[in-house]
Amino acid sequence: MLHALTDEHSEGVENDLEWDVVEVPADGNVAQSDGQERDGKETVAKEARPRRSAARRRPVPETSPARTVLEVRDLYVSYGPVRAVDGVTLEIREGEIFGLLGPNGAGKTTTLSAIEGLLKPDAGSVLIEGIDLQKDPPAAKAQMGVQLQSTGFHPDLTVVEIVRLYAGLHGVDLPKSKALDSLAELGLAQEGSRRVNQLSGGQKQRLSLLIATLHEPTVVLLDEPTGGLDPQARRQLWERIEQMRKGGRSILLTTHSMEEAQAVCDRVAIMDHGKILTVDSPAGLIKKHRSDPRVRAVAHGRVTLDDVFIGLTGADIRE
Ligand code: ATP
Repeated sequence: MLHALTDEHSEGVENDLEWDVVEVPADGNVAQSDGQERDGKETVAKEARPRRSAARRRPVPETSPARTVLEVRDLYVSYGPVRAVDGVTLEIREGEIFGLLGPNGAGKTTTLSAIEGLLKPDAGSVLIEGIDLQKDPPAAKAQMGVQLQSTGFHPDLTVVEIVRLYAGLHGVDLPKSKALDSLAELGLAQEGSRRVNQLSGGQKQRLSLLIATLHEPTVVLLDEPTGGLDPQARRQLWERIEQMRKGGRSILLTTHSMEEAQAVCDRVAIMDHGKILTVDSPAGLIKKHRSDPRVRAVAHGRVTLDDVFIGLTGADIRE
């Protein structure tokens, strides 16, 4: 079961992140559970979500819309005859974790690569903090933190040397003691003198997160950050992502995991065939699409985010 963590599923999983069990009622409004039944409200699902401290709540009044920090408009990207991204428009707000969900080949990685400036789009624009990526790539890229694949790190360098090397590439002067402090904050205090290939998958991913944020970017872009990790490492990484947000970052991540989308994302876009099909909070997506006949056809009882995803993107396996 990937769409929601029930009490049963979260039992026995140790994690220093504070987790709230929240009920997602049929009306889509999420309230913190006090363990009591809610009169007159049909509960759709229980989810475990990282508890968000008062410190991370947006410093803007409830009535003010959050500021947009990343704006993607009418993005088109093709590989020869294959149109991988077909008119994507997205806005990432200050201090939010935004998830891009989609089946294999939906266009998630290509969208991210175009936002990162690694691929030139056929059309469309990417603005980060109002800076146009096409007009001023260095200034726009300076606002982005991109998670690199650990396989690209030099195998002969130690972890602390790699951190300092990338800090230097970003123009950040990071003395060894500070680099070690940063590693310690990510639970990598003992790993500084080791080589990257001696790290576990979760440790490598945390190292990549650190490297992506050394220059204090506005937006951090993560392509399947927890892919291939075991449940403990995955939760640890979710905690780090939540901490990045507390540190003032906005995060755009791609994922195949409904569990991840529900656990960490404020808003989720479901994407397929290069297009965004729908965008909302996880609970909002359930509320919005629970009466859709395609969703009803695949739901077994309570409608879950998984049902919405399968209902909108189809049950066929993608290669
Ligand atoms: P996955 O979840 O499997 O990583 P995705 O949603 O990230 O998929 P993309 O990797 O962006 O999807 O691929 C979108 C489409 O573009 C697919 O049809 C894919 O086959 C195609 N594609 C991706 N990279 C290339 C490439 N380098 N050359 C040609 N076609 C490509």
